[in-house]
Amino acid sequence: MVPTPQYAGERVVVMGLGKSGLSAAASLRAGGAKVEVWDDKETSLAEGTAKGFTAFNNDIKGARILVWSPGVPHSFPTAHALAVKARNENVPLVCDVDLLLETQSEAAVVAITGTNGKSTTTSLVAHIFKQAGRKTAVGGNLGIPALDLEPLGSDGIYVLELSSYQLELVPHLACETAILLNITPDHLARHGGMDGYIAAKRRIFARQRSPRTAVIGVDDDLCLALYEELRKDGLHRVVPISVTRAVAGGVYVIDGQLINDTDGRAETILDLTLIARLPGAHNWQNAAAATAAALSQGLSISAIVAGLKTFPGLKHRQELVATADNVAFVNDSKATNADATEKALLCYQNIYWIAGGQAKEGGITSLFSLFPRIRHAFLIGEASDDFADVLRGQVPFTQYKTLEGATAAAGEIALSENLPGATVLLSPACASWDMFKSFEHRGNVFRDTVLQLWPQQRVSP
Ligand code: ADP
Repeated sequence: MVPTPQYAGERVVVMGLGKSGLSAAASLRAGGAKVEVWDDKETSLAEGTAKGFTAFNNDIKGARILVWSPGVPHSFPTAHALAVKARNENVPLVCDVDLLLETQSEAAVVAITGTNGKSTTTSLVAHIFKQAGRKTAVGGNLGIPALDLEPLGSDGIYVLELSSYQLELVPHLACETAILLNITPDHLARHGGMDGYIAAKRRIFARQRSPRTAVIGVDDDLCLALYEELRKDGLHRVVPISVTRAVAGGVYVIDGQLINDTDGRAETILDLTLIARLPGAHNWQNAAAATAAALSQGLSISAIVAGLKTFPGLKHRQELVATADNVAFVNDSKATNADATEKALLCYQNIYWIAGGQAKEGGITSLFSLFPRIRHAFLIGEASDDFADVLRGQVPFTQYKTLEGATAAAGEIALSENLPGATVLLSPACASWDMFKSFEHRGNVFRDTVLQLWPQQRVSP
């Protein structure tokens, strides 16, 4: 745990008692602060008080900080009364990551954001640093709450995944290296629209420290515009990333070949088509961004290549869970929007596609050009009827009440058709909350069903 002694003796309020809120409260208490806690949900508040924390007395005046849980809306779609009061009383809203950055200001920080690919890139960057023997801690939006990480000191590197929600709550952020992978519309209600979402994402580049490296994917127009802007302002060392074209001074991928041009030599450093744990052009974007980040922190090409080659991959992101005869079963439960699902559909032919859940903006109409790859769709969840309307006349589909039912049917049909490269793909293009506790829960149900039905075919541990 990282204690936060800078608030010793001060009154601080923690709002939202999920994993990161409770971790922040514990860290502040360990640092000697007078901690009060709050959650709009009674059961969560009870969890906090059961841990010995005082319940917030509803008077924010005089508090030094309000530690806000990033998942709780504060401004949009409706303003939260406590956030409004805090702003009126000049009490800063921060999240747990900010407390980490404030106390561990000597360590280097590599932060990663983007609409898709954050977790993969964060894990990949951390893996490369660890393999190279650097003292590394990885967390933020991914896995371990920030204040449960190890204190690192000046020779350490924090590799942090930052969501747009967290980026609104980190006034102490000052990255050495910041990565923005891509921007497509997502979470718009929480940011009051697209402008608010972009404004949150670009905060990753605020107050950067030397070498002030800004790594930006330039394959979408919004990020390209930001890249041009940062390049013009001259404050950053901007490194463009592309998987569609050569970009001068950047890191890019052409036909699967990873090319480093940060020193102007356009050297091919690895054939990414041979790296099974990083399938598809979207993962090549992640690999190129991770390479640029590692280079900015002084790693050698050989150390970077060694890291890319040994990356174990992440669960629930195009995770191959089993193969039965020639059918692959792939768990891509983390694909909670159409953009992420598009990336997976692009990687396979003869797809038995399990989709549906709680629909996001735009549904699946953007996937139209990939429909010929889909042999049959197996629809579940709230979005099932809407998805059926889009698929009707284009792709054969069947609707199911449960993921278990959809998985069993998809496997049976795929096995009976025995087509080359057949893939049963769970890539829902939807949030999971209508039927599951989380995308992890959804992915585990898929995986367990597959392994129960085809037990001897297990692939990943
Ligand atoms: P995030 O943490 O941003 O949600 P993940 O690494 O967990 O991203 O990947 C989420 C989903 O997005 C995966 O299903 C994957 O197929 C897809 N994805 C991964 N990297 C990218 C990328 N660079 N661009 C677009 N989609 C991606």
